[in-house]
Amino acid sequence: MITKDIQLPVKKTETGMVANVLEQFNKAAHHIQLNPNIQRILNVTNNEIIIHFPVKMDNGDVEIFTGYRVQHNNALGPYKGGLRYHETVDIDAAKALAMWMTWKTSLAGLPYGGAKGGIKINPKLYSQSELERITRRFTYALGDNIGPEHDIPAPDVNTNAQTMAWIADTYMSTKSPSERSTYQHVVTGKPVGSGGIEGRDRSTGYGVFLTIKLWADKRNISLKGQRFIVQGFGNVGYWASYFMDQEGAILVGVQDAFASIYQPNGIDVNQLQSYINHNEGSVNDFADSKTIKKEDFFALDCDIIIPAALGNQITEENASLIKAKLIAEGANGPTNVSGERILLANGIEIIPDILCNSGGVIGSYFEWLQNRNGELWHMDEVLLKLEKTLQDSFNKVYNFAIAEDIDMRTAAYCIAIQRIEKAYIQRGIFP
Ligand code: GLU
Repeated sequence: MITKDIQLPVKKTETGMVANVLEQFNKAAHHIQLNPNIQRILNVTNNEIIIHFPVKMDNGDVEIFTGYRVQHNNALGPYKGGLRYHETVDIDAAKALAMWMTWKTSLAGLPYGGAKGGIKINPKLYSQSELERITRRFTYALGDNIGPEHDIPAPDVNTNAQTMAWIADTYMSTKSPSERSTYQHVVTGKPVGSGGIEGRDRSTGYGVFLTIKLWADKRNISLKGQRFIVQGFGNVGYWASYFMDQEGAILVGVQDAFASIYQPNGIDVNQLQSYINHNEGSVNDFADSKTIKKEDFFALDCDIIIPAALGNQITEENASLIKAKLIAEGANGPTNVSGERILLANGIEIIPDILCNSGGVIGSYFEWLQNRNGELWHMDEVLLKLEKTLQDSFNKVYNFAIAEDIDMRTAAYCIAIQRIEKAYIQRGIFP
């Protein structure tokens, strides 16, 4: 007997993501007059894998799950991108997220393409041992559709270092014993004791903070005393808040899937983090804060908004209520095209996702190199290299936006697309 219905309806908020990313891409393609043949190639994904697989639950029942891996483009190197465990994962979400990865890795100057995937699941409904079996069985079913020189998954929403350790172990177990250890870099974001790199845990959030700091420097603003709100207090939201707090900025609001809290005098980042760990992962009822309505969250009085959860959160429905002067996109695709139009018309700036949250995949690249070369990098080295890479990307985007009189997202896309265009032109199209 099947006890849980995994065919949950896709939330309205996550639909239309492909249309969104394609509109962003085609706007930039038009701006740089991209070669139309290359535009045709980049408008579609190379491979779309959908897998239905059975897993035995703790009570002995068998449940069928659906997993996805979409490989958008690999002109610059192996496919790269996370695996997400969420009810909103479907082929549309995987395609859009894979496309964002292509632009993100290209913009960061990495030798990677873009991919994304995951399982349509609410992981909170499953025990740790069920999640392990689900992950291992999915990995086995993916087989050589992933690989250290072919397609390299990483953590994303609701997956973490433990998930990556299970994937690495399962994938390596399918290889001959004499060469197993050469496959360790099939995933990144592993635990430090199992091939992971120091600092990868905080690299996305640190990157979000760094891009905000770089933006503030350009605007001659000190982050000290700036009030910010965060949507999603997972890995990205927490670390971004941690580094913002270290710089003297004040966290005044947090929203997660269960509640929205507000405290104009400031929320203690570490207290909130330890509260969440003992409150089933939620900010709900955090002491010394006011619970507000979900729809009032983005309208809070603050300077900076960090959406660090799911896509399509800032839309035509709420963009005109926003009082902040900056949106720093820790999540992928949190602002849709119509929402962005309103923000830009109101003079609100956006550090686009493919720049703002690229610290994660940059950290992944360092881990991949570490494994490939048999090295061990230290935290300070990782964070320093990350800072340098992000600074380069940020300056390129910022200067391009000024020179061409366009918004930062379009500028970021232009730079990312041009790098891929160059590779196609150099190599031609087979046959
Ligand atoms: N899931 C992260 C992202 O969306 C990291 C991807 C990676 O490291 O491959 O960028």
